[in-house]
Amino acid sequence: AKDAGGNQTSVYDVSYSTELEKRYEIERELREAINGEGLELYLQPQMSATGSLLGVEVLIRWFHPEKGMISPGDFIPVAEQTDLIVDLGKWIVRHALLEIKRLPAPLTLAINISPRQFRKYDFVYCIERALEDSGADASRLVLEVTENLFVDDTNDIVLKMKALQQSGVQFSIDDFGTGYSSLSYLRKLPLQELKIDQSFVQAIDNAEQRTIVDSVMAIAKNLGLRIVAEGVETEAQAHYLAGRDQDVVLQGYLFDKPLAIEAFHQRYLSDTKH
Ligand code: C2E
Ligand code: CA
Ligand code: CA
Ligand code: CA
Repeated sequence: AKDAGGNQTSVYDVSYSTELEKRYEIERELREAINGEGLELYLQPQMSATGSLLGVEVLIRWFHPEKGMISPGDFIPVAEQTDLIVDLGKWIVRHALLEIKRLPAPLTLAINISPRQFRKYDFVYCIERALEDSGADASRLVLEVTENLFVDDTNDIVLKMKALQQSGVQFSIDDFGTGYSSLSYLRKLPLQELKIDQSFVQAIDNAEQRTIVDSVMAIAKNLGLRIVAEGVETEAQAHYLAGRDQDVVLQGYLFDKPLAIEAFHQRYLSDTKH
């Protein structure tokens, strides 16, 4: 509500500047974390319908010395407003690629790439450099991008994707179905995978909304792409998805939440179970 009186300091101004201050603080501390410590990569397993491990998605975690764990939902959007996301993205790519070699072949590793990071002129170079430096097999790397990467400048984006695809890198559309997308342009993109957004997976529980996931899966099949369902939390959801497509890849709390790297290795890759 507007302050009609002579006092210029409204409640709105106060909360606005507090919001700004908070954002600057996150930016400053995140920059420190990138150059120091506090950032950690977590891995969430991606499973076949028959229960074997196919790969992982890398999800960033920030452990703040005083505030504890800050979730990516709170700092990725802040980082995305400036080129901080580019430096953060480089940190993530560099560290994540080292993990490919620690995963037995042919397990894949998926990384989330922000549009702003992708649009940088040297993005292709950065990925190729990191692949070279890490010695990782490019064909086991999956880059997850969202539909809003393609709202403008599509030609440049497609050229970059094709350049990376030449090296073997795979591409996935994350949160598929939640953004703007037309079948005709999806067909032009060098894609291997669509990730069905978790809201559609949750909708499986509702008999009336179930048809949404059917449609999204039909689109993916139509395009000849691998389907990853994310946010799978129940046996019923997994069973339904597998019934629709036996090759569906499943990811979600039903199997595991994102795990610290060492915990992931212990649980999924050590011969002796503890
Ligand atoms: P996203 O890429 O869509 O990742 C999926 C999110 O769902 C993750 O949240 C994951 O922990 C969570 N999740 C996984 N399984 C389940 C489930 O069964 N149920 C529910 N309710 N949630 C599940 P997280 O890790 O908090 O990440 C949130 C978002 O932050 C990500 O959404 C992604 O957009 C962004 N993000 C995370 N890590 C990175 C990163 O390394 N780089 C970039 N650019 N963005 C990242
Ligand atoms: Ca993702
Ligand atoms: Ca997603
Ligand atoms: Ca999401």
